Amino acid sequence: MGKSHLFTKGVSRRDFMKLMAVTSTALGLPAAVFPKTVSAVEEAMAKPPVIWLEGMDCAGCTESLLATLNPSIAEVVLDMLSIRYHETIMAGSGYVAEEAYHDTLKENFVLVVEGSIPSKEDRYCMVAGRPFRETVLEAAQKAQLVLAVGSCATDGAGIPGACDVGAIGVRELLNNNGITTLVINLPCCPVKPATLLGTIVYYLTYQEAPPLDLQARPKVFYGSLLHDNCPRRGRFEAGEFLEDWNEPAQKEYCLLLKGCKGPKTYTDCAQAWWNDNANFCINAGSPCSGCSEAGFFSQFSPLYAKQENFQLPGIGQINAETAGKVVGVAAVAGVGAHFVASVAKGRVGKNTKEEGEDK
Ligand code: SF4
Repeated sequence: MGKSHLFTKGVSRRDFMKLMAVTSTALGLPAAVFPKTVSAVEEAMAKPPVIWLEGMDCAGCTESLLATLNPSIAEVVLDMLSIRYHETIMAGSGYVAEEAYHDTLKENFVLVVEGSIPSKEDRYCMVAGRPFRETVLEAAQKAQLVLAVGSCATDGAGIPGACDVGAIGVRELLNNNGITTLVINLPCCPVKPATLLGTIVYYLTYQEAPPLDLQARPKVFYGSLLHDNCPRRGRFEAGEFLEDWNEPAQKEYCLLLKGCKGPKTYTDCAQAWWNDNANFCINAGSPCSGCSEAGFFSQFSPLYAKQENFQLPGIGQINAETAGKVVGVAAVAGVGAHFVASVAKGRVGKNTKEEGEDK
């Protein structure tokens, strides 16, 4: 399956070049690398084969991928990656599907895992009578690369983590079993298609992982603080916090008092929106839930409650209800609101390292 096949599938060379340009820009690749990127992806179109496993998930990452528009990244990705086994979208079923899975295990494939893995008794998440955990271990030790997509697969603490089944992520499972295959974590609930595609393009181009943070996330996608790029940041600085959802005048106000986790969440959500850049949570009026961070959602819930109290040097402990006043006081005192937010999440004081930064 080569590029001619891609083009017969309705993806024009113009669309393809546009996609590569967008992806290269998102990755921050220098212009000189662009031809190499295109060439590497074209060369790789017949490969690598992909096995996409789903454990305890809602299939939201699959849906996210398939819902992408203009150009149809879903079609490009599906063709480009030659997905051989995907329980939600493959046409085959039963023995035919299992045969495809086992045949692909003999090739130089990429493994994508969506959903968390139960570590307790072998009676949860059984597929074809087999614990999901065993299938992941079998495939991961033969794969050239493992991509854990979505918050559930990255550390097991997604929504399925609320169940008492000992949900864990891919990296933890592999570490526990001495498997050293490279794992790249692509959290968020769900993962953005551009993040998945961009990571694959980088890997195909350089044959190595992009620079990763301590959570094994590509820094290019998870290296910036959402709060720093938020379209409501000006409201935060002005001390304008939404308190009443039904008050039209507060519609565009900062969502801190409604539980926004933007001041402690590292993601490019404010720069790269979902669904072909249609929208993202905060812009749609919903506070950030912190889904790109380890510990989501148990350590970030309740999602719509005010954040924890925070400590301001020289001012003392305040809570989110008084944040507006304190931001005003801090501004008068010459203390920046960003500093207030940094203190709020403990970024200033004991630990001055950037979250997600190598330590
Ligand atoms: Fe945006 Fe949330 Fe920060 Fe307010 S607290 S500026 S809504 S990220």
